[in-house]
This record gives sequence, C-alpha cells and structure tokens, in this order.
Amino acid sequence: SIVVTGATGHLGRHVVEQLLEKVPADQITAVVRDADKASGFAARGVKIAVADYNRPETFDGVIAAGDKVLLISGNEFDKGRVGQHKVVLDAAKAAGAALLAYTSAPGTLKAALADDHKGTEAAILASGVPYSLLRNGWYNENYTEQLAVALEHGVTQAAGEGRVASAARADYAAAAVAVLTGEGHENTTYELSGDTSWSFAEYAAEVSKQSGKDVAYNAVSVEVLIGILTGVGLPEGLATILAGVDASIEKGELAGTPGDLSRLTGRPTTPIAESIAAALKA
Ligand code: NDP
Repeated sequence: SIVVTGATGHLGRHVVEQLLEKVPADQITAVVRDADKASGFAARGVKIAVADYNRPETFDGVIAAGDKVLLISGNEFDKGRVGQHKVVLDAAKAAGAALLAYTSAPGTLKAALADDHKGTEAAILASGVPYSLLRNGWYNENYTEQLAVALEHGVTQAAGEGRVASAARADYAAAAVAVLTGEGHENTTYELSGDTSWSFAEYAAEVSKQSGKDVAYNAVSVEVLIGILTGVGLPEGLATILAGVDASIEKGELAGTPGDLSRLTGRPTTPIAESIAAALKA
C-alpha cells in the first residue's frame, strides 16, 4: 500500500484526494496526529494511522514490507525536524518499504530553511532505503493566502527583483502521486518548480489587474521584514528564517525552471495568475 504522512495538512490532503482517483481507498494509509481531522478520508475507506514524529513507538506497525511511503516534512521548526523525519525513515527501513519519497527543498536553496531538508536527505541516502527526493519549490499559496494583506497594505517582501518559479500545492501533490503510483522512481531526485517565474512587482501588478485595486510592491530590507513579521507576532527565529528565504529569492535561488514537475505530471503547472484568481474568488 501507499502510506502518506502529514495527510491532514494542506499538501497531504491534496495527495490523498489525488491518490483516491488512482488507487482503491483501502490501499492508502493516511498517517495523522488527530483522527478527527481525517474522518472524511476514513468515511471513504482510507486506512487511518495515528502517529506523531515526536513519538517513535507510534509508528510501530504503520508501514509494511513493500509499502511506498510519502514522508511530508513537518512544520515544527523548534523540535528538530531531522530527528523527527528519521523516525519515519527508521520505520520505513525496519519494515522493508519499497520506496520512501520525501518532500524536500530545491537543491539551489541556500537559506537556513533548507538545512533540515539537507540533513534529512543525508540520512535517507545513508539508510539504504530506496528513495525519491521531491525537492519542492515554492507554493503559489505561500503568497495568495496572504492576498487580503496585500490588498490592504500592498505586497511587502525583501526579495528585490528576484523571481520565484512557484506552482500550486496541487501540482506538487500530483508529482508525488506520479512517483507513488508509477514505476522506476527508486533512487531519484526531482527538482520541482513552476514552469515560469515571476517577480514581486509582476505579482503586485497581477493582483492589481485582477482586483481593480492599486496594489504596490514594497521592496524592503531583510531587517525591516524581520521587524514587520515579529511585529505581527512571529517569533524572532521564525521571522529570521522566513526573511532569509526572501534574501535567497533575491539571489535567484528559487527561480529555476528545470521542468521536472510538469514532466512528472504530464501537464503544465498552475500559473500564479490562476491561483490569484482562485484566492480572490474564495
Ligand atoms: P502544513 O503545515 O499544512 O502541513 C504540515 C503537516 O505536517 C500536517 O499534516 C501536520 O499534522 C504534519 N506534522 C507536523 N508535525 C508533525 C508531527 N510531529 N508528527 C506528525 N505529523 C506532523 O504544510 P503543507 O501541507 O502546506 O506543506 C507540507 C510541508 O512542506 C510543510 O510541513 C513544510 O515542511 C513544507 N512547506 C513547504 C512550502 C513550500 O513552499 N514548498 C511552504 C510551507 C511549508 P497535522 O495535520 O496534525 O497538523
């Protein structure tokens, strides 16, 4: 069967939905922390396993020999994500999983945010478990989920004229599903990104065009952005990590368009304009 961790997260929900279109529900195991959040999947016949990256024993019996596992990286930055991910890796190895796919970060990304992904990739390679590194680029939704803020205050980033080759979460989910349901993906690394890149000035112009409101791009320094993010309540460490991503964007580290994503899914990625339209409608 196919085992998906983080199944009640934003990406994980897309993955399970798309898997349900391709394989029988009883061949899918959704690994979740809170079974209540997965009741919709359970009602459709998906197997539910309750487990937590912080408690290795909860993964006992979750993975079986020959399973294909999608490890969706966690979001608890303060809990040692490499150690958390190793819990799933160890369980996959002990069980004799056929494949461990892992949602990583682009190989070009040098920001501190990428450190946990590099550490996890190294552990996976050292383990000998057949792997597929899904080096996910940025989500369109990282920005379109902030559309209300952009409409009121403009688009504030510390990325200068840097470009972002983003795609929709559903696109990255489709790539994961292609790897989990297809053949020949053992020991592969995919650099996944949108087909085209855009700058924040272009993003603000597109939001203006679609909303009819005058939305400007306010290019600020990394220090100013950290101040803004801590000002709205983010812990300083997280604010620094997020602002560091903008510095990487300015250097072009998230602008690459190698095309692996549309090749895996067999269709073009979702343009940022389409995600803006969807967010404006919602
Ligand atoms: P979400 O925050 O929506 O989902 C994170 C998932 O990880 C949730 O399902 C959560 O479980 C699960 N999780 C967190 N901690 C644990 C734990 N200790 N044990 C078990 N499960 C845990 O993020 P997305 O779905 O949008 O993205 C997936 C991952 O991709 C993120 O976690 C992050 O690592 C990375 N990411 C990538 C971005 C990009 O642009 N490429 C942007 C943002 C994040 P629960 O449902 O119970 O909360």
